[in-house]
Amino acid sequence: MRFGIRTLDEASLRGKTVLCRVDINQPVDRETGTLKSINRIAACVPTIRELSDKGAKVVLLAHQGSDIEYKNFYTTKPHAAVLERLLRKPVQWIDDVCGPAAREKIKALKDGEILLLDNVRFVSEEQTLFEKKLRLTHEQQAKTLLVEKLAPLADLYVCDAFAAAHRDQPSLCGFEQVLPSYMGRLFEKEYCTVSQVMEAPERPCVFVLGGAKIADAFEMMNTVLERGVADRVLTGGLVSNIFLASQGKPVGQGSLDFIARSNYSEYIEKAAALYARFGSKIQLPEDLAWVEDGARREAALSQLPGDITALDIGSATADAYARVIQDAKTVFVNGPMGVFEKAETELGTKTVWQALAGTPGFTVLGGGDSITATEKYDLTEKMGYICTGGGALIRFLSGEELPVVKALRHGANIPESKVR
Ligand code: ADP
Ligand code: MG
Repeated sequence: MRFGIRTLDEASLRGKTVLCRVDINQPVDRETGTLKSINRIAACVPTIRELSDKGAKVVLLAHQGSDIEYKNFYTTKPHAAVLERLLRKPVQWIDDVCGPAAREKIKALKDGEILLLDNVRFVSEEQTLFEKKLRLTHEQQAKTLLVEKLAPLADLYVCDAFAAAHRDQPSLCGFEQVLPSYMGRLFEKEYCTVSQVMEAPERPCVFVLGGAKIADAFEMMNTVLERGVADRVLTGGLVSNIFLASQGKPVGQGSLDFIARSNYSEYIEKAAALYARFGSKIQLPEDLAWVEDGARREAALSQLPGDITALDIGSATADAYARVIQDAKTVFVNGPMGVFEKAETELGTKTVWQALAGTPGFTVLGGGDSITATEKYDLTEKMGYICTGGGALIRFLSGEELPVVKALRHGANIPESKVR
């Protein structure tokens, strides 16, 4: 038991039918039906291997995308082939989620065999919008089609989908109401790592917050400063442009227009309020970079031309941030320092990311683009911990109770049954 949740150390698995929820949601090329990345599939391999090696009949539940944001709503068939390759074991797959065909297939599984079901979001109750349109309690989720059809076939439920731990949906929160429940190895590692940062970080603890997801960044910054988790916050990306604007510092008219166009003007006031309370801990850039005639230009704030759009922190700022990171014991990172996708505006991110790789402190990094930057600079092996969860991680660091954590704590009290 860790944090009130059972771990796989406590599960007796041989001969048991295990429903295991994973997050193997990946970017998909729908033209060719191929996956553009497999990092999340690789991350849950240890749990699946352990369940299979210990003789469980493993039934994998997973979602793939949504068409609301990313246009990657798709079948899980390609994932089964990737899993099979990574596990070096057969992985069965069926184009059904909880209908008669899927149920027959589950009943026919032998000890150690693995079956991946199709996209759980093909069942309407699981749809992404569902949690906003129609909120169901966890007890109500236990009465949805998915849970009613599959739970009677299973002995226990394992959740390894930390990246989806902020989702309040039947495949994630319903089964814990009726089956003895456990967290998988990946969930355990991710949840314990981020809990450690939140509850007892080694100090100094530095947060590096950049990127463009302003609502998330502000919420998280407020919580970690208010609770005294962060000793210092280094700002970059759009986050720092908004803070500079809130202090009446020059950022360039292009930057102000971009903030207004992105509907982030209200955050200028929020930044002013945060800075008034915690200004001594929030570090802002002293210089900024922009692109002119296809080349990088930089200037100290006092020298900044009036009309530019700031797309990166300047090199003096990047060096100052690198020094703070070097002396930190814990560093949490979310969001790049600038538009690192372009060569002219990657210096800030590259310098800071190299400092992250070099610091003796423990680094925790999350967020899709932050991970892309890490891969671009070939620093994956040098980071302390790379979290597969973006949304879940940010919700957690914003002080919210994750629905799946709550459900798993509930499912920890359901006693294990005998082998059926
Ligand atoms: P993550 O995916 O790591 O959580 P975000 O999605 O919040 O990070 O932000 C990443 C995006 O922010 C990148 O595409 C990057 O180009 C963009 N970005 C960074 N700095 C700026 C800036 N100053 N102005 C506009 N966009 C920026
Ligand atoms: Mg992103």
